[in-house]
Amino acid sequence: MLAIRNPKSKINNEMSRIRLLPDIVASQVAAGEVVERPASVVKELIENSIDAGARKIEILIRRGGISLVRVIDDGCGMDRDDALLSLERHATSKIRSAADLAAIATLGFRGEALPSIASVSRFRLTTRELSAVAGTEIIVNGGKIDIVRDGGEAPGTQVEVRSLFYNLPARRKFLRSENTETRNIEHQLQLQAIGHPQIAFAFVRDARLVFQLPPAASLHDRIRDLHGNELLERLLPVNGAGLNKIDVSGLIGQAGLSRQTRTQQLVFVNGRAVESPVVTAALREGYHTALMKGQFPVTFLFLHLDPASVDVNVHPTKREVRFRDPTAVREAVVNSIRRTLEGGRGDWQEKFRAPAATIPEEAIVDVASRPESLSPAATPQRVIPSRADGEGPHKLSGESSRQEMRKPPSTTQQFQIIGVLNKLYILMENADGLVLVDQHAAHERILFEELRRRMEEQGVLSQKLLIPQTFDLPPRDAEWVERNLPILQKMGIGVEGFGPNTFKIDSLPAFLQASDPISFMQRVIDDLKSASNSSSALREEMIAMTVCRHAVKANDPLRYLEIEKLIQDLLECDLPYCCPHGRPTMIQISLAELEKKFGRKV
Ligand code: ADP
Ligand code: MG
Repeated sequence: MLAIRNPKSKINNEMSRIRLLPDIVASQVAAGEVVERPASVVKELIENSIDAGARKIEILIRRGGISLVRVIDDGCGMDRDDALLSLERHATSKIRSAADLAAIATLGFRGEALPSIASVSRFRLTTRELSAVAGTEIIVNGGKIDIVRDGGEAPGTQVEVRSLFYNLPARRKFLRSENTETRNIEHQLQLQAIGHPQIAFAFVRDARLVFQLPPAASLHDRIRDLHGNELLERLLPVNGAGLNKIDVSGLIGQAGLSRQTRTQQLVFVNGRAVESPVVTAALREGYHTALMKGQFPVTFLFLHLDPASVDVNVHPTKREVRFRDPTAVREAVVNSIRRTLEGGRGDWQEKFRAPAATIPEEAIVDVASRPESLSPAATPQRVIPSRADGEGPHKLSGESSRQEMRKPPSTTQQFQIIGVLNKLYILMENADGLVLVDQHAAHERILFEELRRRMEEQGVLSQKLLIPQTFDLPPRDAEWVERNLPILQKMGIGVEGFGPNTFKIDSLPAFLQASDPISFMQRVIDDLKSASNSSSALREEMIAMTVCRHAVKANDPLRYLEIEKLIQDLLECDLPYCCPHGRPTMIQISLAELEKKFGRKV
């Protein structure tokens, strides 16, 4: 049998090539993964404070955190032995055995952060347990403990990290500008503050107090304290009854609210901020037509699932997670996003609704006396469109079959059309103030939902062309059309093969009044080709979106009755506030905003 030798005895043996690294070097190697930049220091220290049960955490940075990061908490603190142990690699109070790894309930568990940070900085830890007479102060430079003594700070823990990477010039060179590092830290603080609303946070940057967040009763309050009311008003509480035993909650941006970067797309899994490609893809799928291409949604999304079904031990920074059943997670997220967005249309409809009692009789203008066409100069009139069931003062065109299929609005919608700006934007007044509607975007949304609904029911009405027409396409386009013929036909586009690379078109969807069917087809095909890298599941919708976009381009200035009908149809849509490409259809400018702009209110 082989005797197991003490490996340390080999370290000085010049004959051997393999050596155990001294602890300090090993920590510096580990630091390469855990401590990428000052923001990682901030993250690890705050997570430790949270795990220590802190109610209040203060963060101070200087020069982007490169010259100083200090985190003070009022958590449980450590006694002297633990404080010394906490600086050893793989020393942790959070797990004890491999079995604990299967269900981690704390933010930390690897026992790497403090020794790693201490090995690449000038580090000072002071800590005191609540009941202890004295605390402990430990000073470490580049991983070497220099001083251990009594310290007199308040109960809790304070960690000071100075001159990050002072002993690793190569790493220091990789740091970005102070501003960039500051932004990274601020992003990290946002994640922690949103993830833990009940904890108070204060942030001081270069001797300036940036924010001071009181403990918040809810996520809602925390978002208001951090980002203000304006953002909050455009968020919807997530409607996520636990599909697949996954609880989905939080607040997400309503359709039409988006950002150019992912910085406000926050996702937490069991309380931990994560970056998960699975969830990111699910968000995109859930938002679908409610999101502009290349834009990112605003989400404060919280997933809670059995800790045993998530592996957080994937990456040293614990930023990535692995789901045991990614499909279940995807379904739960997509489902709750969709339901939330569709539920959100109620908010919009609310803005067009007034209590019936407040509508004065004389305000109702008979349809017959209304001007047929509306120019920007037309006099404002009070119009109270009613339900299409004939009970109201005037009956609206009842030809829309979907009005019958769908449940009518529960109360009368109230809005007043003021005019049309630049032949495109409809100006309206509602209970909240001014509403601008992009006529094209609105029309696209209505057509799209109608087309989609009819396709589901296999019932798109098509209209025969007087004279069927044929057109040729280059072979690659022809191939594409060939492949998608069934979908086009389902949409009421009567196109079929008519020899190699030649097609015949003899009907178009009834709603589509294209004067030139061939150039219409050409535009649709061009558009779809440029977008055809999307997944096949979306193909049908993609085509529907494109068809609707080009159907609307041919639109003339609308007449008064058409405008009124357009607005009503829009308010009946599942996602009324954005077109199928995610651009907004309506913009509300509230009276309060106007008052502010005119200096009537501060
Ligand atoms: P981990 O968090 O993975 O356990 P760390 O290196 O971050 O590893 O911390 C080591 C240990 O030090 C923790 O397990 C904890 O017991 C203790 N510790 C660290 N920071 C604090 C703090 N702010 N308050 C109380 N204890 C702390
Ligand atoms: Mg930790």
